[in-house]
Amino acid sequence: MYVSMTPMLAEAAAVGYMVGAFNAHSLEMVPPIIRAARDLGAPVIVQTSPGTARYVGMRNLVAVCRSMAEDEVVDVALHLDHATSLTDIRDAVEAGYSSVMFDGSLMAVSRNVATSRRVIDYARSRGVSVEVEIGTIGGTEEGVSSTGGLRTQPQEAVWFLEQVDADALAVSIGTSHGQFRSTTDIDLDLLSRIHQAVDLPLVIHGGTGVDEADYPSLSANGVRKFNVGTELLVGWTRQAQEQFAATEVSTSLRRNIEPCNDVVRDIVARKISLFLGETREPQ
Ligand SMILES: [Zn+2]
Repeated sequence: MYVSMTPMLAEAAAVGYMVGAFNAHSLEMVPPIIRAARDLGAPVIVQTSPGTARYVGMRNLVAVCRSMAEDEVVDVALHLDHATSLTDIRDAVEAGYSSVMFDGSLMAVSRNVATSRRVIDYARSRGVSVEVEIGTIGGTEEGVSSTGGLRTQPQEAVWFLEQVDADALAVSIGTSHGQFRSTTDIDLDLLSRIHQAVDLPLVIHGGTGVDEADYPSLSANGVRKFNVGTELLVGWTRQAQEQFAATEVSTSLRRNIEPCNDVVRDIVARKISLFLGETREPQ
């Protein structure tokens, strides 16, 4: 079914696993993400930056996610990642996105509260889930850039969520956007204190830099949505560089792109298995 994040994250919390949220940078990347989830019988969140949403067309992305959710019998949410503009949020909701993130993390907190509330009032009445952020996640990824990063403080998160009735909370606990050459030391103690203080599904951004050995601890401490973007982008692009360099320019484009999509499918499958807490034999 094509759904919002809310039922997915509730089930993940009840059972004790994390839902994978995978950034698609092109329409090509969407089918392998959804098929990998289907093969594992897991729900999946496809997410796009506002830039990708404009590039592909919001209604086109909705159409593909919706039809695949029905045809492939898998729960799919389509989520707008790091929206800072109310125009982007309104257009995405009108086009049929089932979930949005309002990122007011660089605003003054009072304005983040006021704007997050407006987004939630608007989106909730249309059945669309809303993720918000408190603290600032560092690093650089398409459309998102912040130096340093300001960790989420548990008491600030409590106060924020008393003002803002969101569906999920992005937390800053040491991860960075765009990190793939190294792994990060996440602050599990901070995560645990946030989890004890707030009763809401928590979201990890910059997930590519997180050591896979830490996944069970994240899940045990309330993380229900885990974002993977950079690893898919790097995997697709590396394969494309190899592929296109090795073939004639008259080669069917499909023959060049399919191996890149297979890389995406394999990464998504591996991540979802780990998020479900399953161990798999290395392939
Ligand atoms: Zn992010």
